[in-house]
Formats: sequence, structure tokens, C-alpha cells
Amino acid sequence: MDIIHSTEGLQKKLAVLKSNDKTIGFVPTMGALHMGHLSLVQSSKASDDVTVVSIFINPTQFNDLEDYNNYPLIVDEDISKLKNVLDDKDILYMPSVKDMYPTEESKILSLDLDGLDLYMEGSSREGHFSGVVTVVNRFFEMVKPNRAYFGLKDFQQLAIIEQLVKQKNLDVEIVPCEIVREKDGLAMSSRNMLIQPEKRKSAAFISEILNKSKEFAIENEITDVKEFVINSINANEHLDVEYFEIADYNTLKPINSWADAEKYRGCVAVKVGKVRLIDNIGYKE
Ligand code: AMP
Repeated sequence: MDIIHSTEGLQKKLAVLKSNDKTIGFVPTMGALHMGHLSLVQSSKASDDVTVVSIFINPTQFNDLEDYNNYPLIVDEDISKLKNVLDDKDILYMPSVKDMYPTEESKILSLDLDGLDLYMEGSSREGHFSGVVTVVNRFFEMVKPNRAYFGLKDFQQLAIIEQLVKQKNLDVEIVPCEIVREKDGLAMSSRNMLIQPEKRKSAAFISEILNKSKEFAIENEITDVKEFVINSINANEHLDVEYFEIADYNTLKPINSWADAEKYRGCVAVKVGKVRLIDNIGYKE
């Protein structure tokens, strides 16, 4: 694979590929790669001629400076993992902050998110989604992919990227990819490596309770399901629920009765010590 740092280098390489009618699959990441990321890469490899993976820890999507400063950066390990799945023709793009944001104005894209950013991660992490759409839009402008691959792990982010594409009428297909989990059920995340060892076992409890709540939901009202999830997770000494909402799959609006939506997703954010994790599950599917 080619490792490219500059926007110019990327554009040159892509121009040649596109003139040869190659389709481009794009996988944006913040690095510290795990099997979740690599599953996106594999999906791209299966559908597109060339895969572009980006590694960029985007400062504008962090609402907490400490979280940004602590975000794991292990480029050498990432490169060797990618070498196992990418070919010579594929690209790893690692731009600098200056490349991504040449001017102050380029740091904020103003976009109508149709209220999708009002809830859950949007209300917990001020400015987060504005940073996400700005960086993804920049990448889409640079890479002009035919398809871009995003994980359902970040369910709200996926909905917001789909809104970006719709709003700006972009010619890119967004491909949602299933959540990849550790053996004990914990959703894979770059942040998992920051969990203190004595708390790691407790973290698996999050997905265990989400799974149990799926059965519980069959015969119970939403308020009872919410109480069940929040109380069960909080009962673990290492876990602290920031929010749990059952949201309308399409509008992401938290709902209080099953009759309020046709499709639902339960979304949770939990602090495991200082590490903040998110996960989600579908109900009555
Ligand atoms: P990140 O590096 O956390 O920004 O994630 C980059 C992409 O990988 C996003 O589209 C995430 O949704 C996706 N992703 C992260 N973790 C997982 C996972 N466990 N399963 C599937 N996709 C994931």
C-alpha cells in the first residue's frame, strides 16, 4: 500500500486511478485499529477496486481536551495491521491537521442536520457532530469515493453522515457495517485499551445487559426497559451510565412508547472509570 501524507500526493494518485475507471472505497478512522475497523476495510476490498483508509485524530470532534490528548496513537502497529489486508494499489492517507484545515473557516461546516444531533451523543458532547461532518465532508471532497464505509457501532454518526450526503447531494454510497465485538461481547473500540485492567471485565456487562433488554422489551414498556438497562448497568461498581435512550431508528428522537416509531435502536453511553464507551442494539427486529 502507498502511505500518503499530503493532499497533493493523494490527489495525484487518485487522478490516475480514476482515469482508469477504478472505483474507490473509503474507510475513515482515527487509528488504533482493531477488527471493527478492519471489517470495514474488508467490505471495501470486496466491493471496490481501490481502498483508501485514512487515519486522522480529528481535533474538532473532541469536546474534551483530555480525551483528545489521551486518544491512542499507535501508527506503526496500525500500518502493520493494514499491510495484512491492503494491496499495493491501496492507500493509507494520514494528513496533518494543517492539511485538513488550511484555514480557520475550514474547521466548521455549517449544515442542517435535521435535528439528528440534538440527542444522545449530540447533547452529551457539544460540537462533536459538527466536527464529524466537517472532517468527513473534507475527506469526501479530497477522496471523492464511490462508496464510504461506516460502522453501526457509531449509530448516530452513521445517520448524520447519511444526512450530510443527502443535504449536499453528494455522489457517494454510504455502506453501514455490523458491530464487531470481543469474545465477551464488548463492542470493539480504540478506547477499550484505555480501560483499567481491573475494570475490563465489567465493561462486558454493557452488551450483556443490552442483549438481556432485548428479551425484556418483548413484553415490557419502554420506560421499564430503560429502567432495567440503567439500573442493571449502574449496579456494577465500575460502570456509570451517562445516557440510555430508545430512539426512533430514522429520526433518532428518543421515544417513550413502542407506538411512537416503527423501528427502534437502544443507544447507551457508559463511563468505565474515566473511559467513555458507547454501544447500541436493535429492538423488535
Ligand atoms: P473511529 O476510528 O472510532 O473513528 O472509527 C472509524 C470507523 O470504524 C467508524 O465508522 C466506526 O463506526 C467504525 N467502528 C469502530 N468500532 C467498530 C466496531 N466495533 N465494529 C464496527 N465498526 C466499528
